[in-house]
Amino acid sequence: LPDPDVAALTGGDVDDLLPRPGDESDKYRRGVLGVAAGSDEFTGAAVLAVGGALRAGAGLVRYAGPAAPVAQVRARWPEAVITELDRPSLDGVGRVQAWVLGPGLGTGDWSHELAARVLASDVPVLIDADGLTLVARDRSLLRRSAPVLITPHAGELARLIRADRDDIEAARLEHSRRAAAELGVTVLLKGSTTVVAEDSRPVRVNTTGTSWLATGGTGDVLSGVAGALLAQGLSCYDAASCGAYVHGLAGRLAAGGAPLAAADVAEAVPAAIRALRADS
Ligand code: AMP
Ligand code: MG
Repeated sequence: LPDPDVAALTGGDVDDLLPRPGDESDKYRRGVLGVAAGSDEFTGAAVLAVGGALRAGAGLVRYAGPAAPVAQVRARWPEAVITELDRPSLDGVGRVQAWVLGPGLGTGDWSHELAARVLASDVPVLIDADGLTLVARDRSLLRRSAPVLITPHAGELARLIRADRDDIEAARLEHSRRAAAELGVTVLLKGSTTVVAEDSRPVRVNTTGTSWLATGGTGDVLSGVAGALLAQGLSCYDAASCGAYVHGLAGRLAAGGAPLAAADVAEAVPAAIRALRADS
């Protein structure tokens, strides 16, 4: 018998939940996403997260980071509005409706200070990768009233809730639920299937992906996709589950039974959205 507390979305469900522009839409009202990602050591994660967000329907993506990733994002995505940060402050960045925090951000003092600024805002924040390392080290960063969506793989979740990685892999639903309750956040646990957990909601399990997604950078694309949905007004729970569905389907389309690179997954997001009905 199916577990009554576990639900799966169909392509049709996701199609119904996805925001679409109308006559009244303009780029600001369609969803402005801030991306705080990348560092002078890791520039690619910022490029991939911005790419995922642009392909998932954000009205505008504002990228903020240091010089090296700024140069890469600017070269790859002329669509993004870019602020080069010479100190960890968001003063010049402008309003956003949600943030993606963490891919390639680094874990030093500068990154911690920028994470604190992002989390001090009053909009939903998706935290991934180095952002999760910073939060594992300093949980007080999570003290905020606006929603938080975390997108760990099992290793990142293990550090966050001080559990054993193998124990998490053996009981992914239970640990996702526990983490959501303990941290007061929505959890998207990545892996061969993706689990979305939020307190007092049914756990959603996504299986649209493909094992070809097990390659560097695909998680950064997912951050951008789910972040764009948050900025467009979906709840953390719906942004996470629709994001996982669309990202997994994009991976499957990009792979077609052969290897993919993470950038291919971002490119395939519009095709995945087009294919949602047929995938139901
Ligand atoms: P990350 O762990 O941040 O690099 O993200 C990896 C992405 O690839 C996530 O969306 C995972 O769910 C997905 N992924 C990794 N391994 C597999 C797998 N074996 N089958 C399906 N999806 C996977
Ligand atoms: Mg990752």
